[in-house]
Amino acid sequence: MCLLLLGFAALVIIATPWHPLPGHVPGGAVRPDAAADFTPAQVARETAFHDQIRPWGLSGLAVGLLVPALLGFTPIGARAVDRLRRRRWVVQVVAATVGMTLVTTLASLPFAAREEVILRRFGLSTQGWSGWWSDVGRGYAVGLVGTLVVLLVVMALARRFPRRWWVAAAGAGAALVVGGSFAYPVVVEPVFNSFHSLPAGELRTRILAMAARDHQPLGDILVSDASRRTTAENAHVSGFGASRRLVLDDTLLAKDTPQEILVVAAHELGHAKHDDVLTGTVEGALAVAAAMCALFLLAGDRVARARSVPLVLAAYAVVGFAVSPLSNLISRHIEARADAHALALTRDPETFVAAQRKLAVTGLDDLRPSTVLYVLFFDHPSAPERIAMARDWERQHAP
Ligand SMILES: [Zn+2]
Repeated sequence: MCLLLLGFAALVIIATPWHPLPGHVPGGAVRPDAAADFTPAQVARETAFHDQIRPWGLSGLAVGLLVPALLGFTPIGARAVDRLRRRRWVVQVVAATVGMTLVTTLASLPFAAREEVILRRFGLSTQGWSGWWSDVGRGYAVGLVGTLVVLLVVMALARRFPRRWWVAAAGAGAALVVGGSFAYPVVVEPVFNSFHSLPAGELRTRILAMAARDHQPLGDILVSDASRRTTAENAHVSGFGASRRLVLDDTLLAKDTPQEILVVAAHELGHAKHDDVLTGTVEGALAVAAAMCALFLLAGDRVARARSVPLVLAAYAVVGFAVSPLSNLISRHIEARADAHALALTRDPETFVAAQRKLAVTGLDDLRPSTVLYVLFFDHPSAPERIAMARDWERQHAP
């Protein structure tokens, strides 16, 4: 386990771009300043939005942690599973997992519904309740299948090799992360959105030409129907190797100029260039392998019993939340490097700033996050930080 953690730490230290925009900034780095790049009305609107939605979001998060903790860290969950003692172990595990996750989801549902009401009030959500419920159902089903696959594999190994199951589980866990990340764009993403190829035309030609100039061959550019859910704009690359693709939200295509879309696509090419999805996958695989070893040290061969399911799920929820500051820290630096790449590729900081402003305003981004919220939840730099970096780049490249 120590070796795995060391490998993970070494990879994080080496692979994370701690200085996303290398080099000296003439005149010093620009300080991020929301007031300089957003109107008072824009700042007031996002502040009002966050004041309304934050209590519900944080409460929902707390419930999502407390309910599994209550079921898993006290005997309540294990006792409930004991009632299924006479059934086959697979049935016990499936029933325990469905029960735990269903109770947790139902308990946090009222908070999620309240958030949805506020999202609609601010025009961010375009969904009706039937769409919302269908998302809840699909999200639950996808999460359940993923959880069950991991639990059943680990428990089967623990039953087969009571003393040394962690060796096989570490390998299997890592393999599941790699397989999951590869399959994600083709298996999970279509559950929530439908995609079509960006039709031939000037925009497609320009993005492909830019990608070729960047030595990042793109098999395809896809458009997702994000507008069925939201008015916010986004783009992403997912998968790696043969499953890697660039996805642009239809909301982005509807509202941004071709030049702005090109800057956003250039940011995504930065992720492709540095194999960010692959690095993240390998880091995730090492972390999961280490977690299997930790689980072995914590619970030993008790993991083979279905009554451990609540404990394992509780530990997963709590540890997952506990490591989020670290994963966000890594993510923010990777995102900043993709921004630096976009600036170098397009050499158009003005449009970069315009696009960032538009993304932040349409998404009602938190422009002045408190330190605690920033550390816990920000997987991208804030919009004022991203704009400040563009200004830094501008200073570096001033004639
Ligand atoms: Zn990104």
